[in-house]
Amino acid sequence: TNFESLGVSKPIVATLFQLGIETPTPIQEKAIPLLLQGRDLIGLAQTGTGKTAAFGLPLIEKLIPEERRPDNRTTRTLILAPTRELVNQIAQNLKNFLRKSHLRINVVVGGVSINKQQLQLEKGTDILVATPGRLLDLVNRRAIGLTAVRYLVLDEADQMLDLGFVHDLRKISKMVPKKRQTMLFSATMPKAIADLAADFLTDPVKVEV
Ligand code: AMP
Repeated sequence: TNFESLGVSKPIVATLFQLGIETPTPIQEKAIPLLLQGRDLIGLAQTGTGKTAAFGLPLIEKLIPEERRPDNRTTRTLILAPTRELVNQIAQNLKNFLRKSHLRINVVVGGVSINKQQLQLEKGTDILVATPGRLLDLVNRRAIGLTAVRYLVLDEADQMLDLGFVHDLRKISKMVPKKRQTMLFSATMPKAIADLAADFLTDPVKVEV
């Protein structure tokens, strides 16, 4: 299998090739076609399996041909992750995949200046990668709106619950539109995650690696 046969477009395949990414990993092979079809998805996968590209490549494919929203202070894509390190890692990964496109990625994490993040957000956001607590702070300041979110990713959902983000996640779920595509990734699937998935996802397919 190669990326093109999974439905990834030629320019992005070329970018991947330059990054030394030629053969899809198992999670990519399973998830990419389903996500391109628009399905909600639960991915049981650890870090290091290539899961960022598994959800990131379909997102980029969908975002590139869409029109930029005239309203700058909203984002179409929201990726939530438990820690600052993971958020930065996801954003860096996606930036590598984007190359020549004009899509803007912003990062929102706790522990650094909120004012600087607010200024960054004013320039516009296509993909927002965030930890839940700081995201809510910025939503409350009206620095970013979630009413235009059409793609939602919960990455390392088990860790987000372990870190006590469940209330924040439920608040965020009330702010994003119901009509959207949602992906949840977790290394484990305890009942709390299954419950979260039942709330957040619609008719999801489950893929396991
Ligand atoms: P992740 O599991 O998403 O954190 O990815 C781990 C690392 O593997 C990242 O540095 C990716 O750039 C890299 N990677 C992702 N997919 C592939 C692939 N199909 N072939 C080689 N490297 C990859």
